[in-house]
Amino acid sequence: MPFKTISDFDDLSGKTALVRVDLNVPMNGDEVSDDTRLQAVKPTVDALAAKGAKIVLLAHFGRPKGQRVAEMSLKQVVPALAAVLGRDVGFAELGDDLPADPVVVLENTRFEPGETENDSLLAARYAAYGDVYVNDAFSCAHRAHASTEALARLLPAAAGVTMGRELAALDKALGVPLKPVVAVVGGAKVSSKLAVLENLVEKVDHLIIGGGMANTFLFAKGTHVGASLCENDLKETALAILANATKHGCQVHLPTDVVVAKEFKAHAPSRICSPDDVAGDEMILDAGPSTVETLAGVIAASQTLVWNGPMGAFEMEPFDMATVALAKAAGAATAAGNLLSVAGGGDTVAALAHAGVKDDFTHISTAGGAFLEWMEGKILPGVAVLG
Ligand code: ADP
Ligand code: MG
Repeated sequence: MPFKTISDFDDLSGKTALVRVDLNVPMNGDEVSDDTRLQAVKPTVDALAAKGAKIVLLAHFGRPKGQRVAEMSLKQVVPALAAVLGRDVGFAELGDDLPADPVVVLENTRFEPGETENDSLLAARYAAYGDVYVNDAFSCAHRAHASTEALARLLPAAAGVTMGRELAALDKALGVPLKPVVAVVGGAKVSSKLAVLENLVEKVDHLIIGGGMANTFLFAKGTHVGASLCENDLKETALAILANATKHGCQVHLPTDVVVAKEFKAHAPSRICSPDDVAGDEMILDAGPSTVETLAGVIAASQTLVWNGPMGAFEMEPFDMATVALAKAAGAATAAGNLLSVAGGGDTVAALAHAGVKDDFTHISTAGGAFLEWMEGKILPGVAVLG
């Protein structure tokens, strides 16, 4: 998807840039407990300030559903943001005159009922403050909201630095990737990732299916998976996905050996067996060592990797084995310059951190819903308007 960037703007001296950012940070009392999202705002603020612009930040905070909720005021984020940016940061309500600070945060966009309705009148009230619009909140790009979509239609619009980096990494992974491409899709349920699987089998050369969702595919192929997490009603859907993979030349990899236990808890007594030998009271909680060896080979032979969802119940040792081993294989191949690796998803990010490879991957997306919709092959409305 083509998009404009800040370098497409001429000098912005005396002008105001409206910038949609992600300030939805976790709070511990009135302290920001993790400022990762605030750090992500800095490159764009610096780039716009270097062009001479005054900067007005737009963001949501929590889900106030069109009401003014005092605990969800963005005012509480201002001191931490000022510290991260190293600039004076002011605060204003929509409709106020802007304070003189070089950076101003406007109140929570979701206090306005028109925000989630993509209301063009609300967008026009925002647009009145600025000369150009920048979106630096990829995590919100799957939503057509007034501050992400309608507003971008009213002013010259571009992607911010952080969002531009993310879009470029994603494009290299699934847009115009170096082949062979391998995708790892794991996690709990097929039902939550149907559209992801359907899109990937048409795009990638190898699809590794792990986690609970592998059980549904094993079941569909006639294996008894005992007491494992399994969506029996998705048998036909799973078979249709496998047939479509064959049609598109995508090789699907399911576990050939598995780790089973009778209890869903850390350090539960476990054994390794063939998927065909799972007893009625046993649960598949991870892929086995022989599967890991094969799949590490698939990753080593690939140029591009896209990953969403853990290979097993990685929160509980020793059922993190396959996830950690494959994460390390991908991290090492990336660090050696042989692989472009992109991953995303709440639990996936936690699993890669647990494996100690977060800094080795080419790009790890914390965007959640937007990342999944991108993996589904959808056009994100907040990106489409930046072209
Ligand atoms: P993400 O948040 O990265 O998109 P998901 O939410 O889809 O990932 O899946 C993560 C969850 O899947 C984890 O809580 C993990 O314990 C669970 N899971 C993985 N494998 C299994 C399994 N074999 N049985 C039960 N749960 C599993
Ligand atoms: Mg999850």
